[in-house]
Amino acid sequence: MSEETIFSKIIRQEIPTPLLYQDDLVSAFRDINPRVSTHILIIPNKLIPTINDVEDEDELTLGRMITVARKLAKQEGISENGYRLIFNCNEHGGQEVYHIHMHLLGGQPLGAMLSV
Ligand code: 5GP
Repeated sequence: MSEETIFSKIIRQEIPTPLLYQDDLVSAFRDINPRVSTHILIIPNKLIPTINDVEDEDELTLGRMITVARKLAKQEGISENGYRLIFNCNEHGGQEVYHIHMHLLGGQPLGAMLSV
């Protein structure tokens, strides 16, 4: 069994974080430490610790995360100017919370894809 993170508590609303979206598969809420003007996290309700742990049966959930990103980007008014979707994996990827999440980033020019 993988250990739950704070994100499971947010999904269950045991920690009062406003949800921008929730259905049977995924949830979305604003990052507590936004790096740009729009910074939203889209996560599966099921605990999947890292992208390395994704299974074939998770394909519907992963696809749902993308369609929710598209809807939220439109809602935030950033669709036309554009945005970036990021998954970080493990140490080299800079992952801090071990419950996979997709960052939806936008609202301003995002610059180069990477600064290594
Ligand atoms: P990672 O580095 O794992 O890809 O990103 C984790 C993200 O989760 C960070 O951007 C961090 O600010 C955000 N985060 C961590 N704890 C919380 C929390 O309790 N609430 C919210 N809304 N975001 C969090």
